[in-house]
Amino acid sequence: MSTARLTINLHALASNWRALDAKTDVETGAVVKADAYGLGAGPVANTLAEEGVRKFFVAVAEEGAAVRQAIGPGPLICVFSGHMEGDADLLRDHDLVPLINSPEQFQRHLQALPVHPFGIQLDSGMNRLGLEPSDWAALRSRAEALNPVVVMSHLACSDEPDHPMNRQQLKTFREMTDGVSAPRSLAATGGLLLGPEFHFDFCRPGIGLYGGLPFAGAKPVVTVDLPVIQVRDLAVGETVGYGNTWKARRPSRIATVAAGYADGLHRAIGGGIDTFAGDLPCPVVGRISMDLITVDVTDLPHTPERLRILNGHQTVDDLAEAAGTIGYEILTSLGNRYSRGYVE
Ligand SMILES: *Cc1c(COP(=O)(O)O)cnc(C)c1O
Repeated sequence: MSTARLTINLHALASNWRALDAKTDVETGAVVKADAYGLGAGPVANTLAEEGVRKFFVAVAEEGAAVRQAIGPGPLICVFSGHMEGDADLLRDHDLVPLINSPEQFQRHLQALPVHPFGIQLDSGMNRLGLEPSDWAALRSRAEALNPVVVMSHLACSDEPDHPMNRQQLKTFREMTDGVSAPRSLAATGGLLLGPEFHFDFCRPGIGLYGGLPFAGAKPVVTVDLPVIQVRDLAVGETVGYGNTWKARRPSRIATVAAGYADGLHRAIGGGIDTFAGDLPCPVVGRISMDLITVDVTDLPHTPERLRILNGHQTVDDLAEAAGTIGYEILTSLGNRYSRGYVE
């Protein structure tokens, strides 16, 4: 094996979905945008469909087409970006439901696909996507007469349970939707964990399915193994990597492994990150290069063939914290140089 290996545990994925589903009395959908957070929309959506997921969410129509191809007819696939110019053929041919974000999109949808289903995305305060309260008030009765399949909105601060924005958006969403007959949804992973008031008719987690915070109980889904290319011995005072940022204070053995920031193992990941030979931690030393990472294996009793950087000991959120980002960005940065395997 000469390339780094990314292993996606579909059992853990299914188990995370069941664990989140068990926290509510309502339906649980799944967000599979950005190629299922980088893990492969086809295998991920198939696994979740087998678990019973009936509502999938993607960012743009092209992603929806790929998910439809994977799971076949039946489950709902909703598109967060709504009905964009030129999307009509994709939406129709792959039976995708645009979540209408503006009066312009509503017009476009009624003109291009008058009998095709749609949903409504409302802006309850995040000011990113969705109909403003005044726009919604103006078109609500026309839209409701056409039976939207969902009415939803998104929380800006749900990863901070005590943030006042959560209750403020809940109040706004209620005011905007009380009395609608369509199924309502406000909660992603964070909102689902805020409790029943936020659940409405269904929740739509993403990151929690893939093993990331704010779902602290998530099982890790991703394992990353890095093949060792070369091992060398350093004398006291020798340095490692660009910028000489690490210097041997004792006679040391340094392993060089085949992955780097071009594989989403960000250069900004500073100190405090290990790779693992089995259960034995081996610290990353020196700067992370584009394709290479250097590791201090002095304390290992043997020369490893590969070192693991993501696993149960060290999560996507540990890497994210070290890089000053979030688990979402680590997952979606892993990229396609890995050889991929799925545990089914
Ligand atoms: C990404 C996204 C989700 C899923 O969010 P997670 O935090 O990953 O659970 C849900 N709804 C919308 C509108 C999103 O953009």
